[in-house]
Amino acid sequence: MRSLLVLVLTLPLAAQQYSLVLKGGRVIDPRNNIDGIRDVAIANGKIAAVAENIPANAGRKVIDMKGLVVTPGLVDIHVHVFHTTGVKDAWAGDNSVSPDAFSFRTGVTTMADAGSSGWRNFETFRHTVIDRARTRVFAFINITGLGMLTNIPEQAVEDMKPEEVARLAKKHKDVVVGVKSAHFEGPTWTSVERALEAGRQADIPIMVDFGWFVKERPYWQLVTQKLRPGDMSTHFFRGPVPIADKSGKVYDYLKQARAKGVKFDVGHGGGSFVWRNAVPAIAGGFYPDSISTDLHTGSMNGYMFDMPTTMSKMLALGMPLVDVIRASTWNPAQQIKHPEVGHLSVGAVADIAAWRVLEGEFGYGDPEAGRVVGKQRLQCEMTFKDGAILYDWNVRAGKDWKTLPEGYGVRPVESIIPPPSK
Ligand SMILES: [Zn+2]
Repeated sequence: MRSLLVLVLTLPLAAQQYSLVLKGGRVIDPRNNIDGIRDVAIANGKIAAVAENIPANAGRKVIDMKGLVVTPGLVDIHVHVFHTTGVKDAWAGDNSVSPDAFSFRTGVTTMADAGSSGWRNFETFRHTVIDRARTRVFAFINITGLGMLTNIPEQAVEDMKPEEVARLAKKHKDVVVGVKSAHFEGPTWTSVERALEAGRQADIPIMVDFGWFVKERPYWQLVTQKLRPGDMSTHFFRGPVPIADKSGKVYDYLKQARAKGVKFDVGHGGGSFVWRNAVPAIAGGFYPDSISTDLHTGSMNGYMFDMPTTMSKMLALGMPLVDVIRASTWNPAQQIKHPEVGHLSVGAVADIAAWRVLEGEFGYGDPEAGRVVGKQRLQCEMTFKDGAILYDWNVRAGKDWKTLPEGYGVRPVESIIPPPSK
C-alpha cells in the first residue's frame, strides 16, 4: 500500500523527467554512428536520451521534428568576431561580426575566431567579445602582437613572439584553442615557424592561412614538412593551392600530408574558395576535414554567406550529407581539442541544430562568381544551445496566439490602461 502511494506520488514527476523532447527527426550524429529516425530528450541543458521512441509525456515540452534532419550544433572553427577593437580602419574591427548575430540563425553553436587578435590585444577580445557572447566562442591567437588589426602587423616579424602567445594560451586555456599564422607576404617561413614554436610551448595546434604564395616556400612543403599532426591548413580551396593535375587527379602530396595527420579546413571567406579546386578534390574523394566559413562582413555578403550555404556547396559536389555533417561538427570539435561539443552523446551539452533539406535547383557561387547548380539546400530550422531554444524559424516551439492567456505579453496585466470610454 505504502509503496503504491510512493509510486503514485512520483509518477507525475517521472512522467516529465525531460525539459524537452524532440520527436521524430532524422538524427545524424557522426560521432556516435547514428543516422536514423530518433527522438532526443534534453534535461538540465544536457542530452538525456537519444532513442527510437521517447514517450511524448516524458517532456515538459515536445517539439515535432518530422521531416527535419537533427544534428549536433555546428562548430565553425574559422570566423572573425573581434568587432570591438575600437581602432579606426582596423581590418579586424571593421570586418568582424558579433557572434550571436550570425551563429544561431545558421545552426552554429560553437565558433573559433581565427587569429583576429594577437598576443597584445587578445585579452581585450576576450573581455569584450568572448565573455559576453551567448555563442560558445574559442580563439586562435595570432602569432603577431596586434593580430589582424591591419595587414601591417601581420608582417611585423619582430613582433611575432612565441613565448607571449604560449603564456596567454596557458593562462586562457579555457578559450584558446590554437595559434594562427596568416597573411604573411615575406619569402621566409618565419610566421609559420614562430607559430609552431608557440604551439609546441602551449601544446596546441596551429592554423595556417598561407597568405601570399611565393616560390621560396611552396604550399606542398608547408603541409608535408612544416605542419605537425593535428595542425590545420585553412583556405584549402584557395586558388593557388595545387590540388589536382591536368587530368583531375588529386596530388599525392596531399594524401601524404593527410596520412601524417595534417588537417585541411575550408575557410571559404571572400576570396579563398574556387570551384576549380573544390570540384576535383571532392570528385577525387579528398573531402575537407572541417568545413568553416571564414565569416566576416565581406564573405557573409558575398558568395560564402554562411555555414549552411558552404555545407550545401559540398553536397552539390557530391560529398555525402553524413560526411558534410561530420566535417561541420565532430571533426572540427576534435581539431580544436574540445571533444565535449559536436555530438549528441548522453551527458553532452544539448547543442543541437535542426535542418530542412530543401530539394530543387539552387545556384552556388565562388568569390569569382563561378556558378554551380545543386539539387539540395540546407535551411536552418531550429538551433538549441545548452538545451535552450535560440532560433526557431517556424515557431515550432510556439502555439496559436489565441490560446495564450488574456493580456499575455504584459506584466502586470493592470498596466494596460484603456482609453476613456467617451
Ligand atoms: Zn580568416
